[in-house]
Amino acid sequence: MNILKAAVLHHPHDLRIDDRPVPTNPGPRDVVVAIRAVGLCGSEVHYYEEGRIGEHVLNAPMVIGHELGGVIAEVGSEVDPGRVGEVVALEPGIPCGQCLYCKRGDYNFCPDIRFFATPPIDGALQERVIHPDRWTFPAYDLTPAQAALAEPLSVGVYAARTVNIAADDTVLVIGAGAVGLLTALACISRNATVTVAEINESRISAGQKMELNVTTPALVKNDTFSVVMECSGSAEGIQLAHKCVSPHGHIALIGLGSETAMQLDGLRLSQAGITVHGIFRYAHTFPEAIDILRKYRARLKPLLEFTIPMQALPELMQSHEYLAHVKTMVVL
Ligand SMILES: [Zn+2]
Ligand SMILES: [Zn+2]
Repeated sequence: MNILKAAVLHHPHDLRIDDRPVPTNPGPRDVVVAIRAVGLCGSEVHYYEEGRIGEHVLNAPMVIGHELGGVIAEVGSEVDPGRVGEVVALEPGIPCGQCLYCKRGDYNFCPDIRFFATPPIDGALQERVIHPDRWTFPAYDLTPAQAALAEPLSVGVYAARTVNIAADDTVLVIGAGAVGLLTALACISRNATVTVAEINESRISAGQKMELNVTTPALVKNDTFSVVMECSGSAEGIQLAHKCVSPHGHIALIGLGSETAMQLDGLRLSQAGITVHGIFRYAHTFPEAIDILRKYRARLKPLLEFTIPMQALPELMQSHEYLAHVKTMVVL
């Protein structure tokens, strides 16, 4: 039996690099991808620290990883053999295709979606994975690590599309974590004027290195922005969103915080005529996300500069060193 290395979370605070059998026999419409780069996401940190996110509980060892870039190594019998060697980004959720939401195109709400690294579904931080051809997107001249950013960027692309961001919009992005920074790029790609509010020094500097207009919450003016993209999930961020959105504006709730943090003020929202959009994952975003990454590739450096080999990941998780970086990119 052929063996590969996989990053497996056994219990909270117990991540191991395990041997697993190499997946074989791709279906006719599948591809085999050699995974080369995997972004570490806040959700993985949650499972590592707490063993659960809401109703999703880690009850058995699970491979982590859902921000995936790689190279196609092999294709199923009905897939264009010309795809072998392509750099690709993998969309990590495979919806059922049959339910009401799937039929409407809103497959992010599919109750039967199989989403990588959401218990009990394994992720793909492993050397090889079999994935459906149609959820494996060409990333053209991007590197696998750049391609891995298509997943977190997809959230911003979906939010910008949901709010219908246009050139006359003034957008405030609250929180300059990876999703906030990438959401800012998604809005800039629609020619909006974008400001990012952040308090953390290293995130502020990451935003500046990405040529974004970064400020601190204290300097943000009230009633100013036609759209607020709330990416922090913090009580302070939610309050700031209420204050600085302009009348008849929009708030998109992207960051997921605790129930207590995410309280809305119905009176303020009603009197100012604010539309609130809940943003859960994304649908139909990868090709646009890949276009944006190609267009702004020179600005992505802060998201790509902290890379570690897979073997070093268990120690990194234990040391919490990843907290010092806006994105940790695991390379294989
Ligand atoms: Zn993620
Ligand atoms: Zn479905």
